[in-house]
Amino acid sequence: MADVIDELQAWLDENWDPDLTVAEWWEQLGLAGWSAPSLPENAYGRGLPRNDAVRVAETIGEHGALPAPGGLGLLLAAPTIATHGTQEQIDRYVRKIVTGQEAWCQLFSEPVAGSDLAGLQSRAVQDGDEWIVNGQKVWTSGGHYADLGMLIARTNSDAPKHQGISYFAIDMHQPGMDIRPLKEMTGRALFNEVFMTDARTTTDALIGDKNNGWAVANTTLAFERAGLGSGGGHAATSAALPGTVAGHLDKRAGDFVQNRRSGGGGAQFRGAGKMLRELAKSTGAIDDPTVRQDLMRLHTLQEIGRMQTLRLKALKAKGEDIPGFGNIGKLSMSDMMRLQRDLGLRIIGAGGMLHAYDSAGKARLDEATGQPFNGFITELALFAQAPPIYGGTDQVQRNIIGERVLGLPKDPGFDRATPFSELPKNA
Ligand SMILES: Cc1cc2nc3c(=O)[nH]c(=O)nc-3n(C[C@H](O)[C@H](O)[C@H](O)COP(=O)(O)OP(=O)(O)OC[C@H]3O[C@@H](n4cnc5c(N)ncnc54)[C@H](O)[C@@H]3O)c2cc1C
Repeated sequence: MADVIDELQAWLDENWDPDLTVAEWWEQLGLAGWSAPSLPENAYGRGLPRNDAVRVAETIGEHGALPAPGGLGLLLAAPTIATHGTQEQIDRYVRKIVTGQEAWCQLFSEPVAGSDLAGLQSRAVQDGDEWIVNGQKVWTSGGHYADLGMLIARTNSDAPKHQGISYFAIDMHQPGMDIRPLKEMTGRALFNEVFMTDARTTTDALIGDKNNGWAVANTTLAFERAGLGSGGGHAATSAALPGTVAGHLDKRAGDFVQNRRSGGGGAQFRGAGKMLRELAKSTGAIDDPTVRQDLMRLHTLQEIGRMQTLRLKALKAKGEDIPGFGNIGKLSMSDMMRLQRDLGLRIIGAGGMLHAYDSAGKARLDEATGQPFNGFITELALFAQAPPIYGGTDQVQRNIIGERVLGLPKDPGFDRATPFSELPKNA
C-alpha cells in the first residue's frame, strides 16, 4: 500500500493544479485510475481493496486536491457495469463516470415495489434495436441532476417475478422522462418521482443478459450496502457535482476544494461522534453519566466497524470472506445514526425543537439560540430516519442475514415460481 500512496503523491505533485477546470482535473484523475481505484484495471481502476481505495481518496483530500467525482455513478453504476457489462459498455459508461462527465441515478424503487423490489411493474418492450419503457419510479435520489439512470424494468411478465427483469442504462434527458422532486422533512429535495412514458433505451444499453436483470440489480444493491455501511472509513466527498446538469464541470477546480459537500447519503454526518463529544463538553452535558455512556457506545460501534473492516481485509487476502458483511455494516450504520440523533437532541435540549430550512433561517436560529451547531443536530435528527430505509430497510437486511447467511427457512410464499402476470397485485 505504501508504494501506491507514494506513487499517488508523486502523481498529485505533478498533476494537481487548482486552475484546471473541474472537467479537466477529473479527466486526468479518472484516466490515471485514481477516481475509482477499487475498480479493475480494464474499468479505469487499479484493482485495489476497498480500504486501500479509501486511503487513496484520503490522500487526495490531504493533498488539498479536488476529490474524485461522487454520486451514484461511482458508487453503484461503475462497479455494476464493470462486473456485468461488456468492454464496450465499460468504455462507453464507466469512462464518463470516473471522469465525472455524466451523473447517474438509480431507477429501482416503485410505489408498490420497495422491499419487494422484484414485484416491480415498469415495463420495457422491445422495438427493433430499441426498448420502449413505461412506468413509475420513486425515491430516485439525484434524479434531477442525472444524465443516465440504472433502470430495472419487466421484460417478461410470463416468467416468475425474479426471472423477467432486465437492467438498462437509460438517458434521463428525453421527452419520455418526467422528473418531479419530492421535498423531505429536512427541507431539501434529494429525491424524485420519475414518470416514464414511452421513454426509449437501446439494446446496447442492456447490462447483462435480457431477463437476467435481477442478478445485475443484486450486484448494485451489494455495492450500495458496502458503500453505505459502517466501518469502511470515508474520505471527503467532492463539493463539485459530476454530470452535465449541475454546471460544475466548466468551473475552476480549486474553487471547490474548501467546501466539502453536505449532500445526501448521510455523508455530511461522518465525524459526528467527535463533534458530539466536543459539543457535550461545551454545553456541560458531558457531566451527565448517561450522555457519557452513550458517547462511549457510539465510539465502540465505530471502532467495531473499523475493526471488522480490517478483519475482512485480512480474510480476503487469504481468499476468505465474512458472510453478510455488507448487511451487518448497514444495520450498524443505522444504529449509529439513531444514537447520534438521540444524543444530539439530548445535548442541545429544547433547541432541538427548532429547525432552519434555509441559510437565512439558519443565521436567525444561530443568533437566537447562540448555538451554531443547532442546525447540524436538527438536520441529523431529521435525516436519521432515512438510513434505516434506503439501500434496503433494517428488517430486509435482517431477513437477508437470516436466510442467506444463517440458512434459516425463507419466507413462505408462492410467488417465486408463479408467472408474474398471474400474481395478485396492488392497484
Ligand atoms: C433517503 C432515501 C433515498 C432513496 N434513494 C433511492 C434511489 O435513489 N433509488 C431507488 O430506487 N430507491 C431509493 N430509495 C428507496 C428505498 O430503497 C426504499 O424506500 C426501501 O427499499 C423500502 O421500500 P418502501 O419504501 O417501498 O417500503 P416497504 O417495502 O413498503 O416497507 C414498509 C415497511 O415494511 C417492512 N417490510 C417490508 N417487507 C418486509 C419483509 N419481507 N419482512 C419484514 N419487514 C418487511 C419494511 O422494513 C418497512 O418497515 C430511497 C429511500 C430513501 C429513504
